[in-house]
Amino acid sequence: MNATQVEQYGLYVAGLWETTSETMNVLNKYTQKPAAEISIATKQHVDTAVKSAKTALKQNFSSYERYEVLMKAAQLLLERREEFARILAIEVGKSIRESRVEVDRSAQTLQISAEEAKRIHGEGVPVESAQGSENRMAFTVRVPVGVIAAITPFNAPINLVCHKIGPALAAGNSVVLKPAEVTPICAIKLASLFEEAGLPKGRLQVLTGDGAQIGGWLLENQDVNMFTFTGSPRVGELIRSKAGLRKVSLELGNNSATIVHKDSDLEKAATLVSQKSFSNAGQVCISVQRIYVHKDIYETFVAKLIEKTEEFVVGNPMDEKTDIGPMIRLTEAERVEAWVKEAVEQGARIEVGGKREDTFYWPTILTNVNDDMRVCRQEVFGPVVSIATYEEIDEVIAKVNDSDYGLQAGLFTNDLQVAMKAAREIEVGGLIVNDASAYRVDHMPYGGVKKSGNGKEGPKYAIEEMTEERIIVLNL
Ligand code: NAD
Repeated sequence: MNATQVEQYGLYVAGLWETTSETMNVLNKYTQKPAAEISIATKQHVDTAVKSAKTALKQNFSSYERYEVLMKAAQLLLERREEFARILAIEVGKSIRESRVEVDRSAQTLQISAEEAKRIHGEGVPVESAQGSENRMAFTVRVPVGVIAAITPFNAPINLVCHKIGPALAAGNSVVLKPAEVTPICAIKLASLFEEAGLPKGRLQVLTGDGAQIGGWLLENQDVNMFTFTGSPRVGELIRSKAGLRKVSLELGNNSATIVHKDSDLEKAATLVSQKSFSNAGQVCISVQRIYVHKDIYETFVAKLIEKTEEFVVGNPMDEKTDIGPMIRLTEAERVEAWVKEAVEQGARIEVGGKREDTFYWPTILTNVNDDMRVCRQEVFGPVVSIATYEEIDEVIAKVNDSDYGLQAGLFTNDLQVAMKAAREIEVGGLIVNDASAYRVDHMPYGGVKKSGNGKEGPKYAIEEMTEERIIVLNL
């Protein structure tokens, strides 16, 4: 397809749209043909964007105005729900039904951020209780950190953008957004919605192009006060190492575990695990990857999970019947194929799936695995789960914790003692009882420990990260 036949998108800098002569293609992930052409930002664009973001901070933008703009942007997004869902299906390859869910959630993330804009507050501090301070009073206020660089991944490219710009704007900051180069269109379109919603110029900038280059220039620019990043641990570590003393919030990977205990409702567990293992072709940071099933119920659970997994329809994301679309790129599908092949050579058995066609990888269940196989130890980020058995709860908690990661875990049980023990001992940012690891609503605190990162998302919690606490002491 000729480049002139696809839509062109520019950079959004200093409240203006600018298309550059240097461009790159965004592929339709199903057809593998160009779907759009995006501009490539230079160092000068990056510096102008940061300067404009910094200048915008000087203009008063009250919390009520922030509330109104965020609510309006959410409303505009819902009005264009289908248009945005189709973009997601094209640029991510996510099924159209899941894409609609992501758009709805994105609007909610903006609404929650708007509501939180009205609730940012400090607290009274009883300095008068210190000897010699009897005549003083003090309280804290939360002030914006300033210019926030937001760098986002490909897999949920509108909701994860909303999770950054929503709270950042709600808290009174300016944002320089760098969306993933393979899925930037919905982020660019979202910026136009904010413009339409009345966001003051300079409060939001969108830079597209090469991630490492733009990231590097943002890190060099000392007027950026904070980095909020969602993506791979490799890039997260790099950002932390170069950010110096500036604030950094990192939402990284996971090899999520879900435990199915002997007393659980197996039908419910198999249904929820199957739904939460393969959505978006497993390209979800809390997607179920390691399943530990008590030995007493192992055969029954595995049979149920296989049956449900075989029902998934793999195909064109635009088709209403499709459950699972293609993976983000061919190299990713080939990597997943290689990891499964390696596991099989090491003794794993494919119960279902194990098949690749171009960028598609079929939902796959492996059994007879051990924890040191790559499909267990590392983050697969594809539609592959491994099932192992256990006998004792201590043993399985140790297995779950034997991971570099700690974002979320799931546990199916109706035994309160088991649930409480797991809540105390499993090393994660979130434990989901009677559901799989992949549960998230957008106002809950969300973030991991260990190599899964640090800092929390969810607008209320992100606002805490994106503001500084300032104490005001009155000497009366
Ligand atoms: P990625 O790390 O390759 O890219 C993420 C972003 O970083 C992109 O915008 C990319 O352009 C940019 N980038 C690349 N190199 C950079 C550099 N040197 N400096 C600065 N920025 C750079 O990740 P991905 O492949 O887009 O996403 C998959 C990963 O994201 C997985 O590990 C997944 O678990 C993680 N993820 C985590 C969460 C969470 O909330 N914890 C959510 C979604 C995805």
